[in-house]
Amino acid sequence: MMSRFIIFGFLLATCSIAFALDPSPLQDFCVADPNSPVFVNGVVCKDANLVQADDFLFRGLHLMGNTSNDVGSNVTAVNVASLPGLNTLGISMARIDFAPGGINPPHTHPRASEVLTVIEGRLLAGFVTSNPENRFITKVLVKGDVFAFPQGLIHFQKNIGKGYAIAIAGLSSQNPGVITIANAVFGSNPNTAGDVLAKAFQVDIKVVHQIQSKF
Ligand code: MN
Repeated sequence: MMSRFIIFGFLLATCSIAFALDPSPLQDFCVADPNSPVFVNGVVCKDANLVQADDFLFRGLHLMGNTSNDVGSNVTAVNVASLPGLNTLGISMARIDFAPGGINPPHTHPRASEVLTVIEGRLLAGFVTSNPENRFITKVLVKGDVFAFPQGLIHFQKNIGKGYAIAIAGLSSQNPGVITIANAVFGSNPNTAGDVLAKAFQVDIKVVHQIQSKF
């Protein structure tokens, strides 16, 4: 009886892990056909006979992103939208540029874990674990360091060096998604009710309206 429970528990655990990741490919490739009118979980495959080498190519990740914005960073995402050959492969990547003092603000990827390496400069990186511990795990990263951000957890990076910084990230989804916490909470469309946020953040509603006005 006990062993049956253990097996059932194991199956449950295995299934929940599998469902949290991109589906495994059932063929060599399934290059995304962005023009298909059919909606599936992912993107419909282009006719394999029409697939070209360029479907597996993205050019320009050596180029610096424009960091002239409020947070002083820029993400160049290479996912299924810009590299159709990634469809069904369960991976993608990104280049993150940081101006001095710039941050990649606290955000989460609902569908991917992330592994990030510093190519240039010095970054403070961190993530926060789930409730109720909400443990803050943080590290100063220098060129060549690789740091992991577990799936779904809120994380950030900050440039703490004197010059520009560059990081390259790998993500375990063809379409990781991004939820930037500040924008989602204070810049939703339409606005989340001010009294809800005032109570959640334990501040006066005026503070909430002030923050909302910035997004
Ligand atoms: Mn990230």
